[in-house]
Amino acid sequence: MDMLINGTAAPAADGSWIEVKNPATGEYIDHVPRGSAVDVDAAVDAAEDAFGSWSGKTMRDRGLILSRAAEMERRDHKDLAHLLTLEQGKPLRESIDEVRGCANILEYYASIAGQPAGEAVHLGKAGDCLVTRVPLGVCGAIIPWNMPVIIMGWKVGPALLAGNTLVLKPASTTPLTNLKIADLFQEAGLQAGALNVVTGPGESVGEALVRNVKVKKISFTGNCETGHKIQKIAGDQLKGLTLELGGSDPMIVMADADIPKAVEGAMRGRFYNAGQVCTAVKRLYLHEQIALEFMRLLTAKVESMKIGNGLLPETDMGPLNNQSQSDRITSVVTDINEREEGKILTGGGPVTGENYAHGFFYRPTLISDVSPDAAVLKNEIFGPVLPMVTVPDLGTAIREANRSRYGLGASVWTRDISTVKEVFQNVHAGIIWVNRHLTIPPEVPFGGTNESGIGRENGFHALDSYTQTKTLFLGW
Ligand code: NAD
Repeated sequence: MDMLINGTAAPAADGSWIEVKNPATGEYIDHVPRGSAVDVDAAVDAAEDAFGSWSGKTMRDRGLILSRAAEMERRDHKDLAHLLTLEQGKPLRESIDEVRGCANILEYYASIAGQPAGEAVHLGKAGDCLVTRVPLGVCGAIIPWNMPVIIMGWKVGPALLAGNTLVLKPASTTPLTNLKIADLFQEAGLQAGALNVVTGPGESVGEALVRNVKVKKISFTGNCETGHKIQKIAGDQLKGLTLELGGSDPMIVMADADIPKAVEGAMRGRFYNAGQVCTAVKRLYLHEQIALEFMRLLTAKVESMKIGNGLLPETDMGPLNNQSQSDRITSVVTDINEREEGKILTGGGPVTGENYAHGFFYRPTLISDVSPDAAVLKNEIFGPVLPMVTVPDLGTAIREANRSRYGLGASVWTRDISTVKEVFQNVHAGIIWVNRHLTIPPEVPFGGTNESGIGRENGFHALDSYTQTKTLFLGW
């Protein structure tokens, strides 16, 4: 599949390619161009040329294009979901959720077209000011492989609605669905050059996009280390940034919680998408009165999960997405064993057997008796491994929850409003869920504190971040 530059399918300038493989089988699916700085520059130039005309349309007209693209995603959702499962590995029903979720985001932004219209400020005899919001220009969007379709929606929806044009760089293991959706935008009537997609490695294509001085803002989702690199380059150019980075969300379960519901929450929170979700439950804090019962119920559920190819209807959890991800998870669990930092209750290694031999399948893993200083609590575990800690009271749970360099999300499971208040006021995170985890509706700002990033996706907050004010001062 080719890249999309200026509305046209394009190979890499130097003609080289990257193979995209199925993480469940190791089989070849397709190939995409291995782009370079030359291709990035061509895409940025196309986006710059398209900017005048795209930003000159009414917001309502831009919203209509988003609506039509969402309609086409819904029309093609089965094919898109199939392709997403092929390249990413997740179960088909999760891929369908993701494609529909992206359509929801585009429809949400279409529905608010025209609302953040600016403001008028009356200054008495000195005059009146008209504060308008104008788009930034060409923006860059850099996408990870874990939820490429939703994250594309988070960036493309508000950026295009605000009147910007875009160059999007997908992750190298999941470029295909992003390219297909970009084609749907063309079919929906988006003008050539308003949305371009350049495929290729992060260190060349991603970095060239960040370095290009014509790009006014970068919205990046990925790991913290890459985020730091991008911030340094963008800082030199005073470029705008949204950085959605890693997370290590705590889930706190108190003694008064609805335990079966909380067990379900932990299952979905940790094992959805094989644990490869930024806001997954990555640390579980259990009140000592319910800890043993909770672990017993959770272990039984985890052991009944069906691991397999995401295309099979019975599959609960698919493979990890790629080799380095698989190596990382394997080494996290090996380290826990070697350092005696916890006790593996179930899982603890790759899935074995003929059907799994060519995929990155890892057994869902529960670890109890985790020592408070264990590395597994300090670092983000981006896979199906859940460390569990027993705590004597809420104060300890909150203190331990905050012992993290991240601050993306957190949840508390309780029936007591004063517990909710304590957690909301004291846990460092961009979102606190109560009796829930993971849900991120398009209307609600999403993003983290500390090392989890800068800025917000979703809602009016994201739309604002793709604009700047421009004021007309009328001195009477
Ligand atoms: P990554 O940083 O390795 O890659 C993300 C994207 O950045 C890819 O497209 C990659 O090619 C590109 N890239 C890599 N090096 C680059 C560079 N030097 N310059 C510019 N671009 C570069 O991250 P990943 O491993 O693909 O994604 C997993 C991480 O993403 C996890 O840490 C996860 O928590 C985080 N994540 C965060 C959110 C959020 O909203 N906070 C959402 C999803 C994933």
